Amino acid sequence: MPVVAEILIPLALDTPYSYVAPAGLDLAPGDVVQVPLGPREIVGVVWGVTETAGGSNLRPVTGRLPFPPLSDPLRSLVDWIARYTLAPKGSALAMVLRLPDEAAAGETARVAVRLTDKPPSRPTPARTKVLAAAADGALRGKSALAKEAGVSLSVVDGLIDDGVLETVAVEPEPVAPRPDPDFPRAPLSPAQAAAVAELVAPFPWDRPQAQDSDDLRPVLLEGVTGSGKTEVYFEAVAACVRAGRQALILMPEIALTAQFLDRFAARFGVRPAAWHSGIGGKRRERLRAAVAEGEALVVVGARSALFLPFARLGLIVVDEEHETAYKQEDGVHYHARDMAVVRGRLENCPVVLTSATPAIETRVNAARGRYRHVLLPERFGGRRLPDIAAIDMRLDQPERGRFLSPPLVNAVKSTLERGEQALLFLNRRGYAPLTLCRACGHRYQCKNCSTWLVEHRFRRALVCHQCGYAERRPEACTECGTFDNLTACGPGVERIAEEAAEMFPDRRIVVLSSDFPGGAERLRQELEAVAAGECDVVIGTQLVAKGHNFPFLTLVGVLDADIGLTSGDPRAAERTFQLLQQVTGRAGRGEKPGRALVQTYQPDHPVIAALLSGDAERFYAEEIQAREAAGLPPFGRLAALIVSASEREVAEAHGQALARAAEPPEGVMVLGPAEAPLALVRGRYRFRLLVKTERNVDLQAYLRAWIARGPKVRGNVRVAIDVDPQSF
Ligand code: ADP
Ligand code: ZN
Repeated sequence: MPVVAEILIPLALDTPYSYVAPAGLDLAPGDVVQVPLGPREIVGVVWGVTETAGGSNLRPVTGRLPFPPLSDPLRSLVDWIARYTLAPKGSALAMVLRLPDEAAAGETARVAVRLTDKPPSRPTPARTKVLAAAADGALRGKSALAKEAGVSLSVVDGLIDDGVLETVAVEPEPVAPRPDPDFPRAPLSPAQAAAVAELVAPFPWDRPQAQDSDDLRPVLLEGVTGSGKTEVYFEAVAACVRAGRQALILMPEIALTAQFLDRFAARFGVRPAAWHSGIGGKRRERLRAAVAEGEALVVVGARSALFLPFARLGLIVVDEEHETAYKQEDGVHYHARDMAVVRGRLENCPVVLTSATPAIETRVNAARGRYRHVLLPERFGGRRLPDIAAIDMRLDQPERGRFLSPPLVNAVKSTLERGEQALLFLNRRGYAPLTLCRACGHRYQCKNCSTWLVEHRFRRALVCHQCGYAERRPEACTECGTFDNLTACGPGVERIAEEAAEMFPDRRIVVLSSDFPGGAERLRQELEAVAAGECDVVIGTQLVAKGHNFPFLTLVGVLDADIGLTSGDPRAAERTFQLLQQVTGRAGRGEKPGRALVQTYQPDHPVIAALLSGDAERFYAEEIQAREAAGLPPFGRLAALIVSASEREVAEAHGQALARAAEPPEGVMVLGPAEAPLALVRGRYRFRLLVKTERNVDLQAYLRAWIARGPKVRGNVRVAIDVDPQSF
């Protein structure tokens, strides 16, 4: 009987397509195959096979491709993500099935050239340049050598043909060096040792049958900043590797620094295999293969590493689990922390979530016993948490047009006099968030988005932080034509740097934000320089708030603690509390104690009060109670539907038609359509519907039925579904 194969194709398709397997081709679920789709050939994955009498009308599978098959747990993860997020199943598959692009596939083993003993027969000037460049005997690639000598590649090729240069194959750098779990290490503190024992003891690596047990509950490893959580979870990673299983450490992309990789190397003897957006081409594919073969024992990666085809996954660590960077907000809207918990369940492997300031959801899961809770209540090495004090900006106002209050200036001064480092934190890139013409009142706004353009003075530009649109900062107002009336309103980090340079003229000042000139590599070097104490005042956005270890930093000044509190988003309190805890926690991680000064207009606000008193428990208790009273997550469920179109009326009309089809049953509430918080992005108008349900409602089933009976999507209308939106 013919065999019909259900093939899932990594395009925005909800279900697999049926093909017939040609005689002699034995297909099994997970196989990567090539199939015809319309006029072209495309890659897909076998999702199911059935023997049937029919199927004669189906097109045949072209053939199997030489890639490792997708494991059962990985295919279940795709199914799970599609069901949970309502994304097309093919789109979820696309996240897993990143096949080599052609450039990478064409690349072969690295070849380098070096000089032989033979003198050149025809020494032209170009050839002489090449010989001079190669004279140091170092191995270089052909094009690197040509570039260095300033000649074309054909000159180098000519010298190879003449036997003056020879080629040698170079072993590629290993993508996944083997970490040594028993590499000599610094001793753990008693508190760390206790936490390791508590954390690792129940893990069932040597007891594969222990599946349904408690031992596989996810664990929240919670400890204040600087408590030594990293060293604790490193021991779990070591135990996992000793048991012959692979470990995955997920981190927010910006925390994947050289400092972290070196710290890993100090514990395991080698740097870990790193998976992030910057890893390209061939190297990416070699790492994927090493993961699939079980060769790569530990992978550290940003959220997309969650979809790597591990052969024997034994542990997932989600570092800084509360980070918003774990939520992907375009394409498939998924939360990597939550999907890590799902993957752990499917792979039968434990998951460890770490944080100094866990997400409310995670805290509630721990409180209810759904997660185990391992605590590290004190800083490592007897170091104290920084003293945190408020500066009441109503009483201690800066001078006109300034943003540093007198007490903060004095504190920075005395810190610098002691030879220590200060960090001034403001979560706003650029020079000023708004530019206004004093003569006509015109405010400079993005052409594509409902946002103000942010002045970047170093670049002499007005920039949209939403879509990247940029224009030159005009000399005269583009509206009324008058000169000298454009005013920068409010501060960004560049403006604070200007003020700090006036206050502390002889000090080394650096501004660190994600748009640091020179790109990621320069930024990395700069972060290292800060950690080495080669700078006096750091002025930074949230980029510097998290994860870094700056041993010379003893003072943190928060310029505007209230920024996040006014947004009206129910998660504003949680986010602000987390960010302020993290950034103040940068102080005093080295030998000397630290302190933090927080400029605020609302020192009595519960978030600020909890921060000042160091009473995180009280904050969590109050916030959890407030969420419960309002039926907000995790006590109720939420989803957002974002309707967008290039005309406002079209988007709004589609949103209204959706609302009319909502028919919410008992326990479901549908709000909107209302203009989305960002009503215009990249030239598309956005309206939002919010769905709020009680906890026991099947949110996905409701959404699916609603979309099905709702209006047909026409023209350039798009409807994006965001289950568990992070801002609402
Ligand atoms: P957390 O992740 O909880 O904020 P870290 O793991 O970064 O804390 O540890 C804080 C500091 O203490 C780091 O500088 C780290 O190198 C140091 N540290 C932690 N544990 C040890 C240990 N067992 N021996 C030596 N230094 C340690
Ligand atoms: Zn824009």
